[in-house]
Amino acid sequence: MGRYAETEQQHTSSVYPKRDVTIVRGEGMWLWDDRGRRYLDCVGGHGVAALGHAHPAIAEAVAEQARRLITCPEVFYNDRRAELYAALSEVTPPGLDRFFLCNSGAEAVEAALKFARLSSGRREIVATMRGFHGRTMGALSATWNKRYREPFAPLVPGFSHVPFDNLVKMEEAVTEKTAAVLVEIVQGEGGVRSGSAAYFRGLRRLCDERGALLIVDEVQTGFGRTGRWFACQHHDIVPDLMTMAKAMAGGLPMGGVAIGPRVTGLWPGAHGTTFGGNPLACAAALATIGVMRTEDLPAQAAEKGTYLLERLRRIESPQVREVRGLGLMVGIELKGRVTPVLRKLMAHGVLALPAGATVLRLLPPLVISYDELDEVAEVIEMVLDK
Ligand SMILES: *Cc1c(COP(=O)(O)O)cnc(C)c1O
Repeated sequence: MGRYAETEQQHTSSVYPKRDVTIVRGEGMWLWDDRGRRYLDCVGGHGVAALGHAHPAIAEAVAEQARRLITCPEVFYNDRRAELYAALSEVTPPGLDRFFLCNSGAEAVEAALKFARLSSGRREIVATMRGFHGRTMGALSATWNKRYREPFAPLVPGFSHVPFDNLVKMEEAVTEKTAAVLVEIVQGEGGVRSGSAAYFRGLRRLCDERGALLIVDEVQTGFGRTGRWFACQHHDIVPDLMTMAKAMAGGLPMGGVAIGPRVTGLWPGAHGTTFGGNPLACAAALATIGVMRTEDLPAQAAEKGTYLLERLRRIESPQVREVRGLGLMVGIELKGRVTPVLRKLMAHGVLALPAGATVLRLLPPLVISYDELDEVAEVIEMVLDK
């Protein structure tokens, strides 16, 4: 173990499962460790680094803004924040043109849950099995995995979970007490599982009929990852509340909720956060969205994702059960545990993620080249061959 790892081990909270590598630098698709070894990064900071690492447009926007103004709470207006609101309203689905800005995915989910209760006057939230929405008490109450939930009970009352991609079960669960239905379009942590267009359109109709709000959690799928700006656009549905974070500000911590016209009753003082809408994160988000638009990264993610899925499906390995995904959100379901495979991949210079115990998940930067996609696929093929 190296000296930085030793120091971290001495002081860590111990809540993170650690990999034995010390990352010190990044550029584009690549990360370097403290011994000068380089890795193809398909973790991408858990889907944060959509533009890769050390992107000059983000670096310059952040440096420039840091010299001008870093902090400015939302009780004041601010030039960068106004520009970001305008930019966001151009890329989010139509009607979602008001925004609450915060600092993480879990905070975005918390805000959406509170807004749903406030707006509807109802208390209950229906979420889905295998759904993941974050680790704070409200978001955790919506998260399904018992391992994450049970040690922290009692959680927030009023939450229930129904099978994902099953409209009949959802119809049974949504009542006149339901404030909101909360779903991901592609379950990320839950194993890279997509719901069908019929399911999401049915959900939209059901929520309209029963007066519940539809919250779509796009924290992982948002900002081009799945081949559209937001994954709900694949199915032509517009949620009432849409949560965003991860890739939003190119690596700076930022989350947000996009708010539709059916959400009412939000009054000054009803919710807030100190760092929300700070000019530094806004500048980073603006730069990120700017690059995504000029390079049409959502379209690139769609093409590259199709290419990668086809390439991975050609791998003939007795270890593979299924290859699935949408855009550059890709999962390889294995017949055995994923951890040893992740370790071997790292030894061969590729960093990847788990999604549950048996799914290998890839969230590479959307700027990855076709040569780099080939290289990732070749290393995975070699490792799964052994
Ligand atoms: C990562 C994630 C979250 C939680 O975001 P944090 O920034 O880690 O709090 C919530 N929802 C989804 C779908 C996620 O992928």
